Amino acid sequence: MPQSKTYYRKCEMCGYECRDSGNWSRHNKSKKHLQRIQELEDKNRMLELENELLKLKLQNAGTTINNIDNSNTNIQINVFTPNPNANNLNDIIIPTLKEMAEREDIPSVAIQKVIMAMEEGVRPILYHKNSLYVKQDEWKQDQEAEKELNKFCNNKYALLNEEFLNMDMNLDSVFYDRCMEYAMMYPLDKDTITHKLKTKLIQQ
Ligand SMILES: [Zn+2]
Repeated sequence: MPQSKTYYRKCEMCGYECRDSGNWSRHNKSKKHLQRIQELEDKNRMLELENELLKLKLQNAGTTINNIDNSNTNIQINVFTPNPNANNLNDIIIPTLKEMAEREDIPSVAIQKVIMAMEEGVRPILYHKNSLYVKQDEWKQDQEAEKELNKFCNNKYALLNEEFLNMDMNLDSVFYDRCMEYAMMYPLDKDTITHKLKTKLIQQ
């Protein structure tokens, strides 16, 4: 068959350049062309699958989806969402300054004890993959979580100070001095609260 001078067609799939209309249909069955189609189909399926997973991820923020099995593709994704019904940080009832002094728990330790006395699933503070999470109305993460925790600490610190300032000065002097020490000398912040507690607060 003579080559047409005007016939020219290029395959968008495999890049085959055709100057003879008779060869075009043959090319459609060529190994290179079919392989390319297969690759594109596979790629599309992967993209669809990824989209599907993304949708699920957004819908189920909170659910762990394991082993979504797509015939020959085995993808595992893990979306971590802490318990939405956990206690709020600001609902924690901490002992009074007097109680802390009686038990000889400095404020940060007293607060740690309250947190650790809660069931793991409802504690308002946790770590996951090296990120700090703090629950106040909703779960906050990293810097937002630190901010929330420091705010909580500042409030508690102010309360302890107030309690001390209103304290009866005729109390036993050793006890009174301890109260003063606990109210003023021990820093209460994100670092003192999480000190030595981090590994115990990890949730997978
Ligand atoms: Zn082709």
